[in-house]
Amino acid sequence: MEKREKLYEGKAKQIFAVDDERYYIMTYKDEATAFDGTKKGIIENKGIVNNRISCLLFKMLEEKGIETHLLEQLDERNVLVKRLQMLPVEVVLRNVAAGSLAQRLGMEEGRELQIPIIELYYKNDDLHDPMINEYHAQAMGWATWEQLKEVQSLSLRINQILRKLFDSIGLILVDFKLEFGIYDNKIVLGDEISPDSCRLWDQVSREKMDKDRFRRDLGGEAEAYQEVVRRIEEVLG
Ligand code: UDP
Repeated sequence: MEKREKLYEGKAKQIFAVDDERYYIMTYKDEATAFDGTKKGIIENKGIVNNRISCLLFKMLEEKGIETHLLEQLDERNVLVKRLQMLPVEVVLRNVAAGSLAQRLGMEEGRELQIPIIELYYKNDDLHDPMINEYHAQAMGWATWEQLKEVQSLSLRINQILRKLFDSIGLILVDFKLEFGIYDNKIVLGDEISPDSCRLWDQVSREKMDKDRFRRDLGGEAEAYQEVVRRIEEVLG
């Protein structure tokens, strides 16, 4: 399927129309941003790695009965997906305290949580993605109660599946972000799952293998992303 006009350009991806209006093409870039886009850089081949990782993970989720937008990886940086009507809500799942949770609640990073935490954020750059709850989302008309319940139940199932997968390749799934949309009246997983949107720590060395290497100027981000895709390909490739 051919790329037509560019519909959207985000921080890490571009979206193109295709002849069939039920679908579009997502193109992954190497650009990395953090802290609301104030920190910018390039992680070499990040687009290629994230497209591969996301396609492998979405394919595995599909096999386990979770509907995703994935149709077909077209080449290194391009993937054909279903054109979802996105909910303006980001869902963050946490297994271990880190990042904004550790900061907000004054917790040490690395503390295991007794149950997974689900957080919702309103997707709005101008407002810096404020945290919301199900009542805000429903009151503002961003999602119905039923949709939110479905989003939360899918997110918990996805967390279980991904935790097991990452555990089998020596990585701790600390936290991650999901985005959902509507397609044929169903809630479908969209966007991506990659080291840009997950925290992954090596089980043995506890080294960070994700975008925190870029956010926190730790160096070695391209190598860390490569190592994550290498390990995933060993079990799913
Ligand atoms: N996350 C993301 N996009 C966002 C905000 C968060 O992918 O706009 C991911 C982030 O990579 C981490 C998880 O969601 O895996 C939780 O992020 P947190 O709330 O700790 O925010 P951060 O401190 O990373 O900004």
